[in-house]
Amino acid sequence: MQAATRVAVVCSVFFKTLICYLHSAVADTCGTRLSPTPVEGESGTTMPTIFTKIINREIPADIVYEDDQALAFRDINSQAPTHVLVIPKKEIAALSELEDGDAELMGHLFVVVRKVAADLGLENGYRTVINCGSDGGQTVDHIHIHLLGGRSLSWPPG
Ligand code: 5GP
Repeated sequence: MQAATRVAVVCSVFFKTLICYLHSAVADTCGTRLSPTPVEGESGTTMPTIFTKIINREIPADIVYEDDQALAFRDINSQAPTHVLVIPKKEIAALSELEDGDAELMGHLFVVVRKVAADLGLENGYRTVINCGSDGGQTVDHIHIHLLGGRSLSWPPG
C-alpha cells in the first residue's frame, strides 16, 4: 500500500470514530435519545403515543390549559358537552406504571383539573376518570385524566 493510501485509510477510520464519539456525547449531554427507544405500554402499544405528538405540537388539538408539567385539551370523541383530557408532559404509560416519585405530579394534575373545570364553568359538578389497561378501557398508553361535565352523568359506568 502506498503511503498516501495508508494516510487516507487512517484518516477515514479516525473521522468515523470521532463522529461516533460525538454522536453519543451529544445524546448524553442533551439527556435525550437521538433515536427514541419504544417503551412497552399496558395495552401492548408503545410510547411515545399520539399524546406526545400533541404535546410537541406535531398534531393539532384544542388545548385549554398548559404549564411546564401538564397539558389539557378537548377529547376528539367527546362523551359530554365538556370532555377534556388532562395529561402530564412526562411519558407515563398508565396508572399501573406510576412510581413513588410521581406522587407530586399526579397531585398537580388534579389541581389542573380543578382549574380547568372552573375555567370552563362546570359549577354544577363534573366527573374524573382514569382508565387503566385493557379491562379498564384504556386506549392511549399515556396516562390521562378524563374531565367530563356539562350534563348529568349516570352511574355506574358500563
Ligand atoms: P382512554 O380510552 O385511553 O381512556 O382515552 C383516550 C381518549 O383519547 C379517548 O377518549 C379518545 O377519544 C381520545 N383521543 C384519542 N386520540 C386523540 C387525538 O388525536 N386527539 C384528541 N384530542 N383526543 C384523542
